[in-house]
Order: sequence, then structure tokens, then C-alpha cells
Amino acid sequence: MSTTSKSHCPEEDADVTSCLLVVVLVVASDGVLTIVLTHGVKMPIQCSSCSEKRAALRRPKTGHSLCKECFFGAFEEEIHQTIVAATLFKPGETVAIGASGGKDSTVLAHVMKTLNERYNYRLNLLLLSVDEGITGYRDDSLETVKRNQQQYDLPLKIVSYEELYGWTMDAIVKQIGLKNNCTFCGVFRRQALDRGAIMLKVDKICTGHNADDVAETVLMNVLRGDIARLRRCTAISTASEGEGVIPRCKPLKYAYEKEIVLYAYFKKLDYFSTECIYSPNAYRGHARTFLKDLEAVRPSSIIDVIHSGENLSVKEGVKMPVQGTCGRCGYISSQALCKSCVLLEGLNRGLPKLGIGKHHRLHGKILNQQPLTEQEKRKLKAVDF
Ligand code: SF4
Ligand code: ZN
Repeated sequence: MSTTSKSHCPEEDADVTSCLLVVVLVVASDGVLTIVLTHGVKMPIQCSSCSEKRAALRRPKTGHSLCKECFFGAFEEEIHQTIVAATLFKPGETVAIGASGGKDSTVLAHVMKTLNERYNYRLNLLLLSVDEGITGYRDDSLETVKRNQQQYDLPLKIVSYEELYGWTMDAIVKQIGLKNNCTFCGVFRRQALDRGAIMLKVDKICTGHNADDVAETVLMNVLRGDIARLRRCTAISTASEGEGVIPRCKPLKYAYEKEIVLYAYFKKLDYFSTECIYSPNAYRGHARTFLKDLEAVRPSSIIDVIHSGENLSVKEGVKMPVQGTCGRCGYISSQALCKSCVLLEGLNRGLPKLGIGKHHRLHGKILNQQPLTEQEKRKLKAVDF
């Protein structure tokens, strides 16, 4: 965002497309999009949608120069179309919005509330947050969620890792260090959201995953060769996969991260933008950097990657995991124990590697409370963890 001030160009109404001196487009702090010419003169651009107001930004997704109001309208309308086209909700449903206080979920809560009122979806909306127990990060972001609760006048439920699992992320990182911590956190969060949603008796959960997140996940799953996840990650909604699993959907699936930031900025939404203090997550970081490089060359790359993921089909005969239920907690699992129970067992036994990598053959032993051999224990305690 440039701090260039409002244009003082004497030729405000000149036809900018005929000018060969254009060098850069800037968004001023007061929200006016300006063209800076090589001779130093600044010219405002008209909104290409209403042609009445000055453009305040250039849409990263389409390249259109729009005024704030036309951008808000276009952004919200696209999300409405996504919701309608995929029939994400039915009238009368209770929907929990996964709220972290970050830009994506704050924009999601704001847009869901706006569209629910504008188009009379007749949804009963509420906010659902997970407290991972990360001092100096989540406690602060939850303060933002609490303010959002007041601002949007929506009920809020917070579920914590400590109450659900007996472990905070602070304690987990103390035991396992800063490698694989996001694996624990991600697995626990997924189940925590489901458990919170069950307590609230909601019909659906919607999350703030945006187009960039989905495209990154497609790339990561291609690079890992994870066919089962690749199939699932592009789905805009998941049906209930079994007892204890609430259907989920992603209304922002086609919304670009850059546009979400612009929307939050121009709407002056109250969100929390600090990074998690435990966020090494290197693999996703590389996928993200790669995608941003692609986007810089061709903005449609994000949607293109999503469409590729959607259109990939799996050859007949490829073995896919069979979904069952966890022998301990009843949550969905393709193994004898769900990932969450295995990770937890590893933490409680002081064998944190148990849930990392493939130790499926040990699940039966754990379930039947049989002791592990010394050799098995040694491997799961490995110092390089
Ligand atoms: Fe959890 Fe990792 Fe996200 Fe931090 S960055 S909240 S540890 S998943
Ligand atoms: Zn389980």
C-alpha cells in the first residue's frame, strides 16, 4: 500500500488508456487509486464498474480498477454465488463459523452475516474458536474473536486443547520441540472443531480457507503423492463422514488471499495479524512461495491449480484408505486408532514419534494395552525428533 497522497493532477479527466507515460498504479492511504506518470504527475482512475467514483484499488483476481463500494459488492457477490452454486446451506440450519481472529475467519464472519441478512439465508450463525494454548499468540487472537462476537452480535463458543486433551500446545512444544508441532496442532484442531460443533448442536461448520490455501494444499498433496487427500482437499464441502463428524464447507474457496486482505483493510475489520510463534511449517511455506511466484507472473495461477486439483481423477484400481472408526474414541479413522488418539498416546507415554510416520502395526498393541518392546520404544523416542 503506497502512501501517495490524493491526486493533484490538473488533467483529471484525461483518457488514461491513451497515455504512454504510465509507470505505476498506487493505492493511497486514503483509498484512491492513482496512476503515476513518468513526468511525476498523478492521475486518478475511474471505477471500471460504476464509472462514477474514483477507483480505490486494482482487483488482484481480475485486474479491474474499482471503487471501494464496487469492490465490496463484487467480492461479496462472488461468495454468494459460490454458496448458491454448491448449495452450501439450507434454510434453518445452524452454522458454526470457525473463528481464529485472523483475517480469513474475520472476513468470513463479516461476509456470512452480511449475506445471511441480505439474501435471507435464514441461517442461525455462531462463532466457534479453538484455544490451542499458545501463550502470546492464541490468547491475544481470542481477544479479537471476543470483540468480533460483540461487533457481529453472534454467540461464541471456545473449546481448548487443555480441556479436550489435557495438553496445551505450549506443553506439547516443550516435550517435542519445534519439529512436527503443527502435525499435532492440526490433527487436534480438526477434532476440537468437531467436538465443539457437537456441543453446540450445529448442522455445519464453515471455515475461512481461501483460494490460496486450497491451491497450496493441492500442490503439497501432489508433491507428497497423497491421492486420498488430494481428492478431498478441493471439495468445497464434505458430507458427514460418520458419527461425530460435522459437515464442513469453505465459502471463501475461490476468494484470493490478497482480496481478503483488501476487503478487511477497506472495511476496517478488527482482526489479528500476528504469526503463530510455533509456525515453522516449512513444507507449506515452500508451496506458498512457489504459488506466490506463479501468481506474480499469472494471477489466474491460483484458480488454475484449484481447477487442476478438481479435475484430477484417480485411476480405477488405486487402493484408497477405507474409512472406519477409532477403536478408542469413535472418531473417523482409516486405522484401528484415529490420529488424534495415537498422538495423544505418544505424548502421554513420552513416545512422541508414535503418531509421526507409519507405525500402524502398533495400533493394535496400544488399543489392547500391550507393552511395547524396548526396541520399539527406542525408535519412538529417537533424539532427532
Ligand atoms: Fe498450531 Fe502450527 Fe498453526 Fe501454530 S502454526 S497454530 S502450532 S498449526
Ligand atoms: Zn480416537
